[in-house]
Amino acid sequence: MSTIRENLESIKLNIKASANNVNRSCEEITLLAVTKTVDTDKILESIEYGVTDIGENKPQELARKYDIIGDKVRWHLIGTLQTNKVKYIIDKVHMIHSLDRESLCEEIQKRAEKIDKIIDCLVQVNISKEDTKHGLYVEEVIDFIQNVSKKYANIRVKGLMTMAPFSKDEDEVRLVFKSLKNLSLDIQKLNISNVSMEYLSMGMSNDYKIAIEEGSNIVRVGTSIYGKRNYNN
Ligand SMILES: *Cc1c(COP(=O)(O)O)cnc(C)c1O
Repeated sequence: MSTIRENLESIKLNIKASANNVNRSCEEITLLAVTKTVDTDKILESIEYGVTDIGENKPQELARKYDIIGDKVRWHLIGTLQTNKVKYIIDKVHMIHSLDRESLCEEIQKRAEKIDKIIDCLVQVNISKEDTKHGLYVEEVIDFIQNVSKKYANIRVKGLMTMAPFSKDEDEVRLVFKSLKNLSLDIQKLNISNVSMEYLSMGMSNDYKIAIEEGSNIVRVGTSIYGKRNYNN
Protein backbone atom coordinates (compact mmCIF):
# COMPACT_ATOMS: atom_id res chain seq x y z
CA MET A 1 0.00 0.00 0.00
CA SER A 2 1.36 3.41 -0.88
CA THR A 3 1.73 6.11 1.71
CA ILE A 4 -0.01 9.46 1.94
CA ARG A 5 3.24 11.08 0.98
CA GLU A 6 3.61 8.96 -2.16
CA ASN A 7 -0.02 9.51 -3.07
CA LEU A 8 0.36 13.26 -2.78
CA GLU A 9 3.49 13.20 -4.89
CA SER A 10 1.84 11.29 -7.70
CA ILE A 11 -1.28 13.47 -7.60
CA LYS A 12 0.86 16.57 -7.87
CA LEU A 13 2.62 15.09 -10.88
CA ASN A 14 -0.74 14.27 -12.45
CA ILE A 15 -2.01 17.79 -11.84
CA LYS A 16 1.08 19.18 -13.48
CA ALA A 17 0.79 16.87 -16.49
CA SER A 18 -2.90 17.65 -17.02
CA ALA A 19 -2.23 21.37 -16.71
CA ASN A 20 0.62 21.08 -19.20
CA ASN A 21 -1.67 19.32 -21.67
CA VAL A 22 -3.67 22.51 -22.00
CA ASN A 23 -0.88 25.02 -21.46
CA ARG A 24 -1.88 25.94 -17.95
CA SER A 25 0.36 26.34 -14.95
CA CYS A 26 -0.11 23.92 -12.06
CA GLU A 27 0.42 26.89 -9.76
CA GLU A 28 -3.10 28.08 -10.43
CA ILE A 29 -4.66 24.80 -9.29
CA THR A 30 -5.49 24.11 -5.64
CA LEU A 31 -5.52 20.55 -4.40
CA LEU A 32 -8.34 20.36 -1.87
CA ALA A 33 -7.77 17.29 0.30
CA VAL A 34 -11.14 15.73 1.14
CA THR A 35 -10.87 14.32 4.64
CA LYS A 36 -14.34 13.04 5.46
CA THR A 37 -14.03 9.95 7.69
CA VAL A 38 -10.24 10.39 7.79
CA ASP A 39 -8.83 10.69 11.31
CA THR A 40 -6.84 13.69 12.43
CA ASP A 41 -3.50 11.86 12.64
CA LYS A 42 -3.67 11.11 8.95
CA ILE A 43 -4.81 14.63 8.15
CA LEU A 44 -1.89 16.06 10.11
CA GLU A 45 0.47 13.73 8.25
CA SER A 46 -0.85 15.00 4.92
CA ILE A 47 -0.43 18.59 6.08
CA GLU A 48 3.19 17.80 6.81
CA TYR A 49 3.54 16.77 3.16
CA GLY A 50 2.10 19.94 1.79
CA VAL A 51 -1.70 19.88 2.04
CA THR A 52 -2.96 23.45 2.51
CA ASP A 53 -6.70 23.08 1.98
CA ILE A 54 -9.07 20.62 3.62
CA GLY A 55 -12.60 19.71 2.52
CA GLU A 56 -15.25 18.21 4.80
CA ASN A 57 -18.90 17.51 4.01
CA LYS A 58 -20.29 17.22 7.56
CA PRO A 59 -20.38 20.47 9.55
CA GLN A 60 -19.91 18.89 12.97
CA GLU A 61 -17.04 16.76 11.72
CA LEU A 62 -15.39 19.87 10.31
CA ALA A 63 -15.84 21.68 13.62
CA ARG A 64 -14.43 18.79 15.64
CA LYS A 65 -11.35 18.48 13.45
CA TYR A 66 -10.90 22.24 13.29
CA ASP A 67 -10.65 22.30 17.08
CA ILE A 68 -7.71 19.90 16.88
CA ILE A 69 -5.95 21.13 13.74
CA GLY A 70 -6.82 24.81 13.73
CA ASP A 71 -6.20 27.31 10.99
CA LYS A 72 -2.82 26.21 9.72
CA VAL A 73 -4.92 24.99 6.78
CA ARG A 74 -7.96 26.47 5.03
CA TRP A 75 -11.25 24.69 5.70
CA HIS A 76 -13.81 24.17 2.95
CA LEU A 77 -17.35 22.92 3.37
CA ILE A 78 -18.21 20.72 0.39
CA GLY A 79 -21.47 18.91 -0.04
CA THR A 80 -25.00 19.59 1.13
CA LEU A 81 -25.31 22.06 3.96
CA GLN A 82 -28.43 22.01 6.11
CA THR A 83 -29.42 25.42 7.37
CA ASN A 84 -29.48 24.31 11.01
CA LYS A 85 -25.81 23.30 10.73
CA VAL A 86 -24.46 26.60 9.42
CA LYS A 87 -23.76 27.73 12.96
CA TYR A 88 -21.10 25.03 13.45
CA ILE A 89 -18.89 26.21 10.63
CA ILE A 90 -19.59 29.86 9.95
CA ASP A 91 -16.60 31.14 11.94
CA LYS A 92 -14.27 28.42 10.63
CA VAL A 93 -14.71 28.09 6.89
CA HIS A 94 -12.59 29.65 4.22
CA MET A 95 -15.18 28.78 1.58
CA ILE A 96 -18.53 27.03 1.18
CA HIS A 97 -18.80 25.03 -2.06
CA SER A 98 -22.48 24.16 -1.89
CA LEU A 99 -24.57 27.31 -2.02
CA ASP A 100 -27.73 26.10 -3.74
CA ARG A 101 -30.86 27.69 -2.30
CA GLU A 102 -32.28 30.86 -0.87
CA SER A 103 -32.98 29.49 2.61
CA LEU A 104 -29.29 28.68 2.95
CA CYS A 105 -28.36 32.21 1.84
CA GLU A 106 -30.65 33.65 4.51
CA GLU A 107 -29.06 31.57 7.24
CA ILE A 108 -25.48 32.25 6.13
CA GLN A 109 -26.26 35.97 5.88
CA LYS A 110 -27.77 36.05 9.37
CA ARG A 111 -24.85 34.19 10.98
CA ALA A 112 -22.14 35.98 9.02
CA GLU A 113 -23.53 39.39 9.84
CA LYS A 114 -23.46 38.54 13.54
CA ILE A 115 -19.72 37.87 13.47
CA ASP A 116 -19.03 40.55 10.87
CA LYS A 117 -17.55 38.15 8.32
CA ILE A 118 -17.87 37.94 4.56
CA ILE A 119 -18.35 34.32 3.50
CA ASP A 120 -16.87 33.23 0.18
CA CYS A 121 -19.18 30.76 -1.55
CA LEU A 122 -19.34 28.71 -4.71
CA VAL A 123 -22.71 27.99 -6.28
CA GLN A 124 -23.29 24.28 -6.73
CA VAL A 125 -24.64 23.34 -10.13
CA ASN A 126 -26.30 20.06 -11.07
CA ILE A 127 -25.22 19.94 -14.70
CA SER A 128 -26.28 16.37 -15.39
CA LYS A 129 -29.69 16.78 -13.70
CA GLU A 130 -29.31 13.54 -11.81
CA ASP A 131 -31.90 13.18 -9.05
CA THR A 132 -29.23 12.06 -6.65
CA LYS A 133 -27.20 15.23 -7.05
CA HIS A 134 -27.75 18.55 -5.34
CA GLY A 135 -27.33 21.92 -6.90
CA LEU A 136 -29.15 24.29 -9.19
CA TYR A 137 -29.92 23.51 -12.79
CA VAL A 138 -27.93 25.53 -15.29
CA GLU A 139 -30.94 27.60 -16.30
CA GLU A 140 -31.54 28.69 -12.69
CA VAL A 141 -28.03 29.80 -11.85
CA ILE A 142 -27.92 33.34 -13.24
CA ASP A 143 -31.15 34.45 -11.55
CA PHE A 144 -29.98 32.89 -8.32
CA ILE A 145 -26.63 34.69 -8.39
CA GLN A 146 -28.20 38.02 -9.29
CA ASN A 147 -30.49 37.66 -6.32
CA VAL A 148 -27.60 36.81 -3.97
CA SER A 149 -25.72 39.85 -5.23
CA LYS A 150 -28.70 42.09 -4.51
CA LYS A 151 -29.83 40.72 -1.18
CA TYR A 152 -26.98 39.17 0.78
CA ALA A 153 -24.17 41.59 1.55
CA ASN A 154 -22.16 39.08 3.60
CA ILE A 155 -22.11 36.42 0.89
CA ARG A 156 -19.58 36.75 -1.87
CA VAL A 157 -19.98 34.41 -4.82
CA LYS A 158 -16.53 33.42 -6.06
CA GLY A 159 -17.34 30.77 -8.61
CA LEU A 160 -19.09 27.48 -9.32
CA MET A 161 -18.88 23.88 -8.17
CA THR A 162 -20.15 20.67 -9.70
CA MET A 163 -19.91 16.91 -9.44
CA ALA A 164 -19.72 14.85 -12.60
CA PRO A 165 -21.76 11.68 -12.93
CA PHE A 166 -20.04 8.44 -11.95
CA SER A 167 -19.51 7.28 -15.46
CA LYS A 168 -16.90 5.31 -17.31
CA ASP A 169 -17.70 7.40 -20.36
CA GLU A 170 -14.94 10.00 -20.35
CA ASP A 171 -16.68 12.14 -22.96
CA GLU A 172 -19.80 12.41 -20.83
CA VAL A 173 -17.74 13.54 -17.82
CA ARG A 174 -15.77 15.99 -19.92
CA LEU A 175 -18.95 17.52 -21.29
CA VAL A 176 -20.20 18.22 -17.76
CA PHE A 177 -16.99 20.06 -16.90
CA LYS A 178 -17.09 21.98 -20.18
CA SER A 179 -20.65 23.09 -19.41
CA LEU A 180 -19.67 24.44 -16.00
CA LYS A 181 -16.77 26.35 -17.52
CA ASN A 182 -19.02 27.84 -20.20
CA LEU A 183 -21.59 28.85 -17.62
CA SER A 184 -18.90 30.61 -15.61
CA LEU A 185 -17.82 32.54 -18.72
CA ASP A 186 -21.41 33.61 -19.38
CA ILE A 187 -21.77 34.83 -15.81
CA GLN A 188 -18.47 36.67 -15.90
CA LYS A 189 -19.67 38.66 -18.89
CA LEU A 190 -22.62 39.96 -16.88
CA ASN A 191 -20.34 41.81 -14.46
CA ILE A 192 -22.63 41.26 -11.49
CA SER A 193 -21.61 43.32 -8.52
CA ASN A 194 -19.84 41.48 -5.71
CA VAL A 195 -19.67 38.35 -7.88
CA SER A 196 -16.57 36.85 -9.48
CA MET A 197 -15.94 33.64 -11.36
CA GLU A 198 -12.47 33.16 -9.94
CA TYR A 199 -12.96 29.51 -8.96
CA LEU A 200 -14.21 26.39 -10.64
CA SER A 201 -14.37 23.56 -8.12
CA MET A 202 -14.60 20.38 -10.15
CA GLY A 203 -12.86 17.02 -10.31
CA MET A 204 -12.51 14.22 -7.75
CA SER A 205 -10.20 11.20 -7.47
CA ASN A 206 -11.54 9.51 -10.57
CA ASP A 207 -11.88 12.53 -12.84
CA TYR A 208 -9.64 15.40 -11.67
CA LYS A 209 -7.29 15.07 -14.64
CA ILE A 210 -10.15 15.65 -17.07
CA ALA A 211 -11.47 18.48 -14.90
CA ILE A 212 -8.14 20.28 -15.03
CA GLU A 213 -8.02 19.98 -18.79
CA GLU A 214 -11.45 21.63 -18.83
CA GLY A 215 -10.47 24.54 -16.60
CA SER A 216 -10.87 23.45 -12.98
CA ASN A 217 -8.74 25.32 -10.46
CA ILE A 218 -9.90 23.51 -7.33
CA VAL A 219 -9.83 19.71 -7.41
CA ARG A 220 -11.43 17.88 -4.49
CA VAL A 221 -9.51 14.65 -3.93
CA GLY A 222 -10.05 12.20 -1.07
CA THR A 223 -9.63 8.53 -1.90
CA SER A 224 -6.49 8.97 -3.99
CA ILE A 225 -4.76 10.62 -1.03
CA TYR A 226 -6.05 8.74 2.01
CA GLY A 227 -7.22 5.46 0.52
CA LYS A 228 -10.68 3.96 0.53
CA ARG A 229 -13.00 5.52 3.12
CA ASN A 230 -14.19 3.57 6.11
CA TYR A 231 -17.57 4.94 7.09
CA ASN A 232 -17.64 2.92 10.32
CA ASN A 233 -15.02 5.06 12.00
C1 LIG B 1 -16.20 12.84 -1.04
C2 LIG B 1 -16.22 14.00 -1.93
C3 LIG B 1 -15.13 14.26 -2.80
C4 LIG B 1 -13.91 13.38 -2.90
O1 LIG B 1 -14.18 12.16 -3.49
P1 LIG B 1 -13.04 11.09 -3.83
O2 LIG B 1 -13.63 10.24 -4.87
O3 LIG B 1 -12.75 10.35 -2.57
O4 LIG B 1 -11.85 11.84 -4.30
C5 LIG B 1 -15.22 15.40 -3.58
N1 LIG B 1 -16.28 16.23 -3.54
C6 LIG B 1 -17.32 16.00 -2.72
C7 LIG B 1 -18.45 16.96 -2.72
C8 LIG B 1 -17.34 14.89 -1.91
O5 LIG B 1 -18.38 14.68 -1.09
